[in-house]
Amino acid sequence: MKIHVLSPEVYNQIAAGEVIDRPYSVVKELVENAIDAGATEVTVEIEMGGKQLIRVTDNGVGIAKEDLANAFEPHATSKLTTAADLFGVTTLGFRGEALASIASVSKTKICSRVQGEDAFSLSSEGGVRGEVLPAAGAYGTQISVCELFFNTPARLKFLKSDAQEEGDIAGIVARFILSRPAIAFTLITNGKIKYRSFGDGLPAALAAIYGADILSHCYEIDADKHGIRLYGYIGDRNFSKSNRTYQSLFVNGRYVINQTVSSAVTNAYAGYLMKRQYPFYVLFLDIPPEIVDVNVHPNKADVRFADNQVIYGTVYSVISSVLDGNSRALEYLVDANRQQERAEEREEREKPAQQAEGVFAAPISPASKPAPAAKPAPAPQMTYAEAKKELEFQIPPQAGRVSVPPRGNWQLEMGVSQPTQKEVDVFEENKRSILEAEKKKQQQRIDPASLEFKGELFRTYLIYECGDDAYIVDQHAAHERLIYDRLREKAERREILSQSMLVPFILTVNPAEFAFLEKQLPVLRELGFDIDEFGTDTVKVSAVPSDLLNMDMAAFFDEILSSYESLRAIKLADLLKDKLASAACKAAVKGGDPLTEEEVKALLRRMNGDMGLKCPHGRPVAVHVARSEFEKLFKRII
Ligand code: ADP
Ligand code: MG
Repeated sequence: MKIHVLSPEVYNQIAAGEVIDRPYSVVKELVENAIDAGATEVTVEIEMGGKQLIRVTDNGVGIAKEDLANAFEPHATSKLTTAADLFGVTTLGFRGEALASIASVSKTKICSRVQGEDAFSLSSEGGVRGEVLPAAGAYGTQISVCELFFNTPARLKFLKSDAQEEGDIAGIVARFILSRPAIAFTLITNGKIKYRSFGDGLPAALAAIYGADILSHCYEIDADKHGIRLYGYIGDRNFSKSNRTYQSLFVNGRYVINQTVSSAVTNAYAGYLMKRQYPFYVLFLDIPPEIVDVNVHPNKADVRFADNQVIYGTVYSVISSVLDGNSRALEYLVDANRQQERAEEREEREKPAQQAEGVFAAPISPASKPAPAAKPAPAPQMTYAEAKKELEFQIPPQAGRVSVPPRGNWQLEMGVSQPTQKEVDVFEENKRSILEAEKKKQQQRIDPASLEFKGELFRTYLIYECGDDAYIVDQHAAHERLIYDRLREKAERREILSQSMLVPFILTVNPAEFAFLEKQLPVLRELGFDIDEFGTDTVKVSAVPSDLLNMDMAAFFDEILSSYESLRAIKLADLLKDKLASAACKAAVKGGDPLTEEEVKALLRRMNGDMGLKCPHGRPVAVHVARSEFEKLFKRII
């Protein structure tokens, strides 16, 4: 077999799989280049979720005519020359592969102009580049990427819907706005402005993304410890979100997802947030470059720290001090007075809506905070190995299935075990436990006619006798279970009746969440919800399944959104089961409600002799007590 060197186009297409897998990664690379070029204004325009067009325009230094010719060459970079430079990377890009990769899988045009020169342009189609030509344009660079993946149909197939891709792009642009508050960004999607920041500082950047109100729910922190600076905004103890899309971490100016830091923050909030609530944070970690390795992965979404314990410890202790309001908090809080002013401003704004002379809650000020609630024992330090292990769960479920070449050896790096062997065992295990459960169920089912009602205890527990066995039934649990079964049966037979709500429920979410929610709409409709899009990133619910008329809509949608980005496949049907369970609970007779003899009989009949029933919350409906146990109680037998 003859060995031949791949043509640059083919080589770049393969390399493109490493860096450019989705429209948002193009946006990320182009914006990073603009930032590296010193731009103070960056505009991102996209059409059809970036599949049709991604155009990034900046006012940075530009690319000189003679360099333009090399812009699409692999490993062309102006940012690194020697391997030693790798240890002190301060620019966002350094590999010199992004432009070459992007150009190889799209129709790309660069137009650039450096100070004091004319503008020039260069186009490329599928990596085959044209001539450098004179052009017209402002100082800076504009790169247009059209028809991404037009020549790699396999890749095109794995893209998400336009709305989802758009949501992810909005997510990445939001992160740039936060990480570079001195740069004015504009994101325009299909001709409409989605985000706009003016380069006037971090608080304004936060407001541009989350709305101005966000500041009054946050602490601004700035801490310097062990040569590490941690600063930014963290939600106060009462402010939480239902998923992790409201968490941003920037290490040395670069957006990263890092398990060490995220567990440190999560653990610091552990005593304050309930299950399925996630803290809000926009945090910056500045670390000497020589102790961070950004060279982990071409996508550079993770970083490796030379010492995780120190990072974990710093983040955990700073954030928990602030939340707990202990004496060190003052050291870390930025201008506690400013926080107080903000809280007051907010109250001022809300005042007209309140009754005159309303009593205001004390403004947030850590110094005047009441004694902190009992704090759980400090979380154990997490080793990096453990942190990595947790990272497994961040890998999208389809990662193993997609037929693109795997990126490096993440499976090995992240310690993902080989699944096949394990699967067989799990399967056997399941089979065995199903059989066992089945057997147990048989034993627990008794002929209802053989049960004799003997009375009740505390107006709650019904007593039945059957030969040498006694059964004590919790009337509430039993009734609840029966109602639940009926509701579920109806739901399964699609006999759900929708019932209009008096006041429609309106929910506005962020673009990424919206894209996710949009995908759930058909399922929700099938379940009996009348739900529609209602303006930008907003849905309106005007009818719900009639059995669930009184459900807590906000909580329900919070739960749906909480499965976003946790990457668990959402099981709406399961969620609904939860809702049915609480509906059943409300409708069922309570402990203490007296039952007529008729009702007692009806209840038993409907239980159909099944003493192994559990209520929808998992508590037993019936307890079995054998005659021998009574005899033991009375020491008749030992
Ligand atoms: P890298 O960013 O890793 O150096 P890229 O392929 O992203 O590699 O870019 C290649 C080179 O093209 C950069 O090193 C830079 O010199 C130049 N370049 C790309 N985009 C811009 C821009 N917007 N403004 C100025 N120069 C740019
Ligand atoms: Mg780059």
